[in-house]
Amino acid sequence: MALIVQKYGGTSVGDAEKIKNVARRVAQTKDKGNQVVVVVSAMGDTTDELIKLAYSVADRPSDRELDLLLSTGEIVSCTLLAMALEAMGYEAISLTGAQAGIRTDATYSRARIQKVDPERVIGELDKGNIVIVAGFQGVTDEMDITTLGRGGSDTTAVALAVSLGAEVCQIYTDVEGVYTADPRLVPEAKKLAEIGYDEMLELATYGAKVMHPRAVELGELFNVPILVASSFSDSPGTLIHGGASMEVRNKVRGIAHDLDVAKITVVGVPDRPGIAASVFEPLAKANISIDTIVQNASINKITDLTFTVAKSQLKKAMEVVKPIAQSIGARECTSDARLGKVSIIGTGMQNTPGFAARMFGALSGQGINIQLITTSEIRITCIIDEARVKDAVQALHRAFELEIEE
Ligand code: ADP
Ligand code: ASP
Ligand code: MG
Repeated sequence: MALIVQKYGGTSVGDAEKIKNVARRVAQTKDKGNQVVVVVSAMGDTTDELIKLAYSVADRPSDRELDLLLSTGEIVSCTLLAMALEAMGYEAISLTGAQAGIRTDATYSRARIQKVDPERVIGELDKGNIVIVAGFQGVTDEMDITTLGRGGSDTTAVALAVSLGAEVCQIYTDVEGVYTADPRLVPEAKKLAEIGYDEMLELATYGAKVMHPRAVELGELFNVPILVASSFSDSPGTLIHGGASMEVRNKVRGIAHDLDVAKITVVGVPDRPGIAASVFEPLAKANISIDTIVQNASINKITDLTFTVAKSQLKKAMEVVKPIAQSIGARECTSDARLGKVSIIGTGMQNTPGFAARMFGALSGQGINIQLITTSEIRITCIIDEARVKDAVQALHRAFELEIEE
């Protein structure tokens, strides 16, 4: 008898019929003699709708209330799935994140899991129950409800798999696995049979929504393989694990894109020690995550400082930066909220020359202007106009011949 953790995403539990479909798949897994823990996301666009609702009653809803509100989405789907299983004659119980022992810090809207107390889940499994856990949420030491960040149900699932000692964590979604690019943008994208944690982590961090980055991080840290597969078909999916892609050379593994990029430039900044700290410390205090940072070489001791934030944080970031820009004697502070980024990712790129040139060539071939460039050992990212992201992803997919089977 194996213990299996499965997670079903929002589209997979989008309506009553889909919940019944998930119930049948869970029942099949149970019928094979397994103990089954199921993590669910909120139905369809519920989380977006709850956010909209919050902002329709308040301009700035407090983080605590927002998290408690959003946690209700997953409670709806986990109770409905338990009811559907009961109606099929199976013993099932739904648990909120708090009841399932998911303990987090108090960083509302992107809380981190500090530990999982698995006793209740184990107790219910021992009684023969299928255990359905509400994803995306946890509880602080003060018993306040937190959420783990958008897409965070994947992280709930992997954390439970780790703490219960499951052999594999199965993530069921609306595509058949991890592809060489988002299959909705690139119809010729190829499904990968397997991918290493490192490559998957870069893909996820740079926009491939199919996995929450922190779920991949947890899987890697505790060496739990993660299977990504479709909740609507039985095709084999993609295994994310530690042994994949060793010594694959000269190959880009996949293309990620992200449309959630806004840029702020502090223009005409005096080039002297302490300036960067005086800009970024208050941003950190205001809980604003900064992504790419670029500072130009100075001319006559004057430079420009550019950085990117999520579009949703642009307004708040400008409110913080504008007075600082004035106080340090910068000329002005500009912003652009219509950006996106495209990244090529692959361990095969390490120490291999030519990938950057090919990437820039493919983009210029489409007349796409590159605004900022960042790299890691296994990734090159270009920030470009959001309207050109789709063309860029498609051109890069062709340029690196990802549509061709390995
Ligand atoms: P779920 O609701 O099941 O968690 P998500 O919407 O969070 O599903 O993630 C699945 C989506 O991720 C797919 O519908 C697809 O459009 C998108 N996606 C982006 N990049 C990739 C990729 N490289 N491979 C597969 N899917 C991707
Ligand atoms: N419902 C949450 C979201 O939409 C969490 C998740 O789907 O994983 O982000
Ligand atoms: Mg998701």
